[in-house]
Amino acid sequence: MYEPGDVRVEEREDPKIIEPSDAIIRLAATCICGSDLWPYRGVAPVDHQAMGHEYVGIVEEVGAEVETVKVGDFVVGSFVISDNTCEICQTGFQSKCVHAQFVDGTIGTQAERARIPFADGTLVATPGQPSEDLIPSLLAVSDVLGTGWFGAVAAEAGPGKTVAVVGDGAVGLMAVLAARELGAERIVIFSRHQDRQELARFYGATDIIEERGDEGVAKLKELTGGLGAHSVVEAVGTQQSFMQAIGSTRPGGHLSYVGVPGEVQIPAMPLFFSEIHTLGGPAPVRRFLPDLIQLVWDRKIDPGKVFDLTLPLDRAAEGYEAMDQRTAIKVLLTL
Ligand SMILES: [Zn+2]
Repeated sequence: MYEPGDVRVEEREDPKIIEPSDAIIRLAATCICGSDLWPYRGVAPVDHQAMGHEYVGIVEEVGAEVETVKVGDFVVGSFVISDNTCEICQTGFQSKCVHAQFVDGTIGTQAERARIPFADGTLVATPGQPSEDLIPSLLAVSDVLGTGWFGAVAAEAGPGKTVAVVGDGAVGLMAVLAARELGAERIVIFSRHQDRQELARFYGATDIIEERGDEGVAKLKELTGGLGAHSVVEAVGTQQSFMQAIGSTRPGGHLSYVGVPGEVQIPAMPLFFSEIHTLGGPAPVRRFLPDLIQLVWDRKIDPGKVFDLTLPLDRAAEGYEAMDQRTAIKVLLTL
């Protein structure tokens, strides 16, 4: 991305092994993330940046120290590089690894090939070569499903719980899927788009609220005996969505926030008086990769349905435009 709104596909140098813990992968597919829209819209700074942080592909080369993946393996990786061995990783927060590095902006996986540092700690091999139709779902694991899953786990979605999801983008929809898989009793999504409501129902939403802001909170309270939801996942990252999420969480409940925030300021008073648990941030997708890959492999979940537009990589600019205009939920780029 040269500058906001200016996406170009051009030749870059082929990646090479630099560190002995590196792997080089040939991508099988990649995609555009909602968070890529922040620089696209000029909300986050961008200047000739290599874009993309979601990826699946085949290992082409490994450094001398790589042990868990080998040449020819089909792998899924997290959007944050991690060693998966440090103290932070061992507690399940691999996205804050002492060696953490964002794939976005530095490696940039909207590309044919990529160098993945700390391959053992970042990549997980699938049980075999996937059939073509599984690739979108495996790609979803790399970020959007992993992030929605973290949102649901961090909000402590589970049996007997009412879960509310703020945001009907791909991450919000994946949080619905995760809440269902984790056994939530009732799953409410805030959405005013017909096509997204349908997909939310497919993934397990039991109730849909079209109102936003305070009206949305009031509607949710109506549905929950005036209490609010036990678990709330914030998957947008705007001022309104964040305040709506805080307002939707019942006292003693759990709020997670996994939408990358734009310019959001959280006033302390409403947060203080809400008396809620909060946890959020870039999802430690690596924690969930083995289980989520297996769920996809066994065809128990179908996260790949969030991709509603597929374009070849060299038409990436059109994909950004479609997501920016909200004519597509999420764009898969083929190679
Ligand atoms: Zn680590």
